[in-house]
Amino acid sequence: MANKLRLEGKVAVITGAASGIGEATARLFVEHGARVVIADIQDELGHQVVASIGTDKASYRHCDVTDEKQVEDAVAYAVEIYGTLDIMFSNAGTLGTLSSVLDMDMTVFDQTMTINARGSALAVKHAARVMVTEKIQGSIICTASVEAILAGAAPLAYVASKHAILGVVKAAARELGQHGIRVNCVSPYGIATPMVCKTFGGDAAPIEASICGNANLKGITLSTKHIAEAALFLASDESAYVSAHNLAVDGGLSSIMKLD
Ligand code: NAD
Repeated sequence: MANKLRLEGKVAVITGAASGIGEATARLFVEHGARVVIADIQDELGHQVVASIGTDKASYRHCDVTDEKQVEDAVAYAVEIYGTLDIMFSNAGTLGTLSSVLDMDMTVFDQTMTINARGSALAVKHAARVMVTEKIQGSIICTASVEAILAGAAPLAYVASKHAILGVVKAAARELGQHGIRVNCVSPYGIATPMVCKTFGGDAAPIEASICGNANLKGITLSTKHIAEAALFLASDESAYVSAHNLAVDGGLSSIMKLD
C-alpha cells in the first residue's frame, strides 16, 4: 500500500493551492500520480509552487473564486491541458477579521461568505458540469472547518460560511449521486497557516502553541499534510462509496465536550 500511487492518471483542480493546505495537497496529489492545476490569486507564489513540483505535473491558473468566469476558466484550463477533470478540491478561503457580533462589518461578512460559501458552490457547479457532460465519476471535495460543526474562536461570518459549505456538499452530493459523482468535505482543526496568522495577527509559533493548548488530541501537532492525507483519501478510490460526508480532522474535538 505504501508505494501504491492512489491517483495515477487523475487530473485535479485545487483552489487556494498557492499556500497552506492547498499547496500541501497539490504536492501529495502529484506524489500519487495526479496532474494538478493550482488555482489561486497569489500568482507569484502559485508559479513558485508549480516550479518546485515540476511543470510537467502541475500548472498555475489565476483564479479568484469570487468570479464565476474565472472558476469556469480554471476548470476548462484543466480539461484543455490535461484532457479531463477527475477531482475538484475547493479549498480557497478567508477567515476575515476578528470582531464582536455587535461590531460586525457587513462588508467583511459578505466577502467571507462570497469567498468561502459562494466560491465553493461555484467550484462544485463548474466541476460537476464537466463531470456530468463527460460522464466522469469524479470526486469533489470542499474544505469546511471544525467551525462548520461548532463555533470556536473564529468570526461569525467564517462560522456561518463554513456551516454553509456543509449544505453545499450535502445538496450537491444528493443531486450528483445519480451520475456517480461523490461530494465530500474535510474539516480541519487549527493550523498556523498564513490565513490564520494574518487574522490572529501574530507569528506562527505562539499561534501554534495556543492551537495545541486547546486541542483535544495531545502529543501531535496538526499539519497541512494531515489535511492533505484526508483529501487524498476522499479523492481516491479508497473512498469509492463515501459521499455527503464531512471528514473531521480535529483530533475528536468536535465530537466531545471537554469538562476538565
Ligand atoms: P492559507 O492562507 O495558507 O491558504 C489559503 C489560500 O486561499 C491562499 O493561497 C489564498 O491566496 C487563497 N485564496 C484566498 N482568497 C481567494 C480567492 N478569492 N480566490 C482564490 N484563492 C483565494 O490558509 P489555509 O489554512 O491553508 O486555508 C485553506 C482552507 O482551509 C480555507 O478554506 C480555510 O478556511 C480552511 N481551514 C483552515 C484551517 C486552519 O486552521 N488553517 C482550519 C479549518 C479550515
